[in-house]
Amino acid sequence: MGQRKPLCLYLADRRDPFMKPTILVIEDNEKNTYLVTFILEKYGYQVIHARDGETGIALAGRIKPDLILLDIQLPVMDGYAVARKLTGNGELRSIPIVAVTSYAMPGDRERILDAGCVGYIEKPINPVTFVAEIEQYLPAEKKGNGLERGRP
Ligand code: MN
Repeated sequence: MGQRKPLCLYLADRRDPFMKPTILVIEDNEKNTYLVTFILEKYGYQVIHARDGETGIALAGRIKPDLILLDIQLPVMDGYAVARKLTGNGELRSIPIVAVTSYAMPGDRERILDAGCVGYIEKPINPVTFVAEIEQYLPAEKKGNGLERGRP
């Protein structure tokens, strides 16, 4: 009598090549989460969401997403700390992290890159350019293949 794992954990542990590329969104703002999820799903991505950094780090370890979209202004553990934890983890350090920030003051860009992010996007998210902005950090075989693809 084997132990049964919840289905979501079974799926998360079992990434087969036919699965959609996965993006982990670590974001505490509901509206922003809704918007980026809506857009990314249209472009053929599977989106997994964490509301805080600790949950995000745990999920990253479990699902090994293809990219992490990381809000900088998070409660308890801010985005800088989350990025440092993720890039300090040998198993996760190769996953590109794109920061999302509502302010970009002089020095923030350097702080974001120093924390281990590959780039950043400023809020408010621009729905027209958002996907292209993050896809510059994804290899071709990990890009989504959604219905929106190829539209002018
Ligand atoms: Mn936030």
